[in-house]
Amino acid sequence: MLRLPPFELLRPSSLEEARSLLVEHGPGARPLAGGTDLLVNLKLGSTEAQTLVSLAAIPELCGIREEAGELVIGAMTPLAQVAASEVVRSRIPVLAQAASVVASPQLRAMGTLGGNLLLDTRCQWINQSHFWRAALGFCLKKDGSKCHVVEKGKRCVAAASNDTAPALLVLGARLVVLGAQERSMPLAELYSSDGAQHLTLAADELLVEVRVPLPEQSARSTQHSAYGKLRRRASIDFPLLGLAANLELDESKTVRAASLAAVALSAQPLSLPKVAAALLGVETSGAQLERAIVAAGALAQRRLKPLDNIPGDAWWRREMVPVLLGRTLRAALSDTGPVNGDPQ
Ligand SMILES: Cc1cc2nc3c(=O)[nH]c(=O)nc-3n(C[C@H](O)[C@H](O)[C@H](O)COP(=O)(O)OP(=O)(O)OC[C@H]3O[C@@H](n4cnc5c(N)ncnc54)[C@H](O)[C@@H]3O)c2cc1C
Ligand code: SF4
Repeated sequence: MLRLPPFELLRPSSLEEARSLLVEHGPGARPLAGGTDLLVNLKLGSTEAQTLVSLAAIPELCGIREEAGELVIGAMTPLAQVAASEVVRSRIPVLAQAASVVASPQLRAMGTLGGNLLLDTRCQWINQSHFWRAALGFCLKKDGSKCHVVEKGKRCVAAASNDTAPALLVLGARLVVLGAQERSMPLAELYSSDGAQHLTLAADELLVEVRVPLPEQSARSTQHSAYGKLRRRASIDFPLLGLAANLELDESKTVRAASLAAVALSAQPLSLPKVAAALLGVETSGAQLERAIVAAGALAQRRLKPLDNIPGDAWWRREMVPVLLGRTLRAALSDTGPVNGDPQ
């Protein structure tokens, strides 16, 4: 049985107190949200921390509210609450769908939206016990000097595996972060391409909230979105591939704007603007749609290159790219979803 190493647990009751504790305790301190990722990684020894700063008693970090045309979701809002929220389900369904397929009901009750966006990158060579990794000779991400996925690779390519990240990317979400000052940034700027250091947040910065522009729905413009997740089992599994789609149609049901994003490939979730461009101007009521879906699938397959970093054969995941994209786009247009892209 894997045991948690000892650590000090601090329980601040305000954001300012949480931040000054992080500053005071330095790089050995980590914020603790639901703990469903962090505590597992501490047990495996792939992450180390002497002090955990719990965010559970800070009321302003939790909840969903509308403000000036945006939906503001606190970083500590449980994924179950995001998935069940009426306003999320009706106005930005891709986010409700992505949150609803994370892990299992228990993990969605504990796991938070902020923790999901800040989830550590995953790889079949790092999500193992310390004993197992020591036998292998460790790797670039922790304690070692080589990568077991890319021979002679100089950078870790562990995969971003957070289901809500692509959903929030296609919705154009921004983050509010508290460091020495409060700042706001587009979600895409949170991530870097190095799986060993995949976040641009400083160790003493806190994610406070996620701000999502709420789409206008009118007779002249409608928004349709969906999330598709490829996994072996229909529950608990991390994504082997995740695809989010957000389409805006005009009054003649022609695609006016399109946004696509993918996860579970490389260290950062990927926006796919060139693939999305293949859908612009397409009439969604006729045969043109099927041709556009095939063209977009071929483009996506060229752009997305699954690696042997996570379970699931890379070639199979690559073959599934156009299949999952087609299913996700159809689900978006018919306002159904999420798409469970399991092999059956
Ligand atoms: C069996 C299993 C299956 C899983 N399946 C999936 C899956 O299918 N899809 C998926 O996306 N995830 C999955 N997860 C991972 C995890 O449960 C979720 O990603 C969850 O949302 C993580 O949130 P948390 O609140 O528990 O984060 P924590 O574990 O508390 O934190 C994660 C990281 O974020 C940092 N952090 C958290 N909040 C803040 C903040 N406000 N400011 C600064 N730093 C912060 C922590 O320091 C830590 O580094 C799975 C986990 C398990 C154990
Ligand atoms: S991608 Fe390479 S360096 Fe990164 S965790 Fe996997 S084996 Fe380690």
